[in-house]
Amino acid sequence: MSAAAARAVKDDDLLALFDAAVADADAYVEAAKHAVRAKVVKGGKVDRVAIDVEQHVVHGFAWVATYAEALRQTALWARDLSGKGAFSAVERTAAILVFAEYSAQLAGGVPMTQVEIIRPADFGVEAPAVRVFATQDDRSAFAQMVRDAAGKATVENPNLDHEFEMIRDQFRKFADEKVAPFAHQWHLNDELIPLPILEEMGALGVFGLTIPEEYGGAGLGKTAMCVVSEELSRGYIGVGSLGTRSEIAAELILTGGTDAQKAEWLPKIASAEILPTAVFTEPNTGSDLGSLRTRAAKDGESYVVTGNKTWITHAARADVMTLLVRTDPNTSNFSGLSMLLAPKQRGTDAEPFPTPGMTGGEIEVLGYRGMKEYEIGFDGFQVPAANLLGGVEGQGFKQLMATFESARIQTAARAVGVAQCALELGLKYAVERK
Ligand SMILES: Cc1cc2nc3c(=O)[nH]c(=O)nc-3n(C[C@H](O)[C@H](O)[C@H](O)COP(=O)(O)OP(=O)(O)OC[C@H]3O[C@@H](n4cnc5c(N)ncnc54)[C@H](O)[C@@H]3O)c2cc1C
Repeated sequence: MSAAAARAVKDDDLLALFDAAVADADAYVEAAKHAVRAKVVKGGKVDRVAIDVEQHVVHGFAWVATYAEALRQTALWARDLSGKGAFSAVERTAAILVFAEYSAQLAGGVPMTQVEIIRPADFGVEAPAVRVFATQDDRSAFAQMVRDAAGKATVENPNLDHEFEMIRDQFRKFADEKVAPFAHQWHLNDELIPLPILEEMGALGVFGLTIPEEYGGAGLGKTAMCVVSEELSRGYIGVGSLGTRSEIAAELILTGGTDAQKAEWLPKIASAEILPTAVFTEPNTGSDLGSLRTRAAKDGESYVVTGNKTWITHAARADVMTLLVRTDPNTSNFSGLSMLLAPKQRGTDAEPFPTPGMTGGEIEVLGYRGMKEYEIGFDGFQVPAANLLGGVEGQGFKQLMATFESARIQTAARAVGVAQCALELGLKYAVERK
């Protein structure tokens, strides 16, 4: 059905069409799962070597399953709004565009990167049907809706609870008043976001949004994090992602830390008394994190760290690093990695890394300024042995992966999926037509 025809049908018929498209996507995902399982499960267990050999379809399976989930959440969002009599032209058009685009990609090929496309034939399964099509007129109509929404927080009704709308308003006001008027100059000067801004954000609870109340946080979920990040990023991308490092550290400690580590670190992270930084990537190790080489050797009551890290955001001003290191030198994969909660001194532009055992410097970047990127060298850098996350070596990679799993479970894909798809499509065409 074309989008023009879809717009003319009653809500119930359109929602039924969406449900049918979701069922098709689900059937495709099931068939793909079966095909991938046949390639990578040996003797009832997932075979790591086979996962490496078959990485295209394994990676592709993650993408198609995510697309199917985005369609499901879009259909649920549409149905909820329709039940409230709030499924208006903007939401209908956005949902139709999302279904038309994502269904077409599932059937024709999902671009995972510019050079990697996953197609049904890669799994050796039938392509799902495409039930909704969009035309240039539909896209132009949505581009106009995006323009008409200028000045509003969202183009579409995200259908979030009142609490989230209040949070959105609060942070929108903060970004409009305290961030947007100054952000361009911060960017031009390539300077760190001023500390008073961070302190105000701390007082507003940005750094403890998802930390449980018993540890001084607000105890909210990932939806709150998305709403706050959206509004702050509207002011300046650096401000919008300031909270990410606190989020990573807090989630690592919540899911992998001991009770003592939770009690020690979480309240300080929530109050912004300490700023964390995530220290994983190395000069030769990015995506393939399991093969990193920075070494931490136990020496009495300390770990002594030697190695190099790079692309570390906000590293100079941070007070603690979630530092992924190899504690078992006899391994070369994920199994010998551990996560350290490594305190460091705050640095300055003149002396970014005053802590003994650390050296480093800024990597100048064209965009995403405000926190700065750094390369760091460790030579004899010491971390108290008690700061081994969870107290057991060899768990670092799993602990990091567990944070992604927890994010997946908590994320309200409905809000994020719809807003993101609609904005991607709408903004793309709005820009093209200018
Ligand atoms: C602005 C910025 C901030 C950052 N901040 C931090 C930070 O705070 N802390 C931190 O630890 N790191 C940080 N990073 C590093 C970031 O996590 C890495 O850049 C990322 O993990 C990718 O690693 P890489 O750059 O080595 O690229 P590579 O891993 O070399 O990948 C290069 C390309 O190859 C593709 N590719 C890789 N493996 C495969 C595969 N098996 N199959 C198909 N394609 C593949 C990738 O998709 C990519 O397109 C930051 C990076 C940037 C640019």
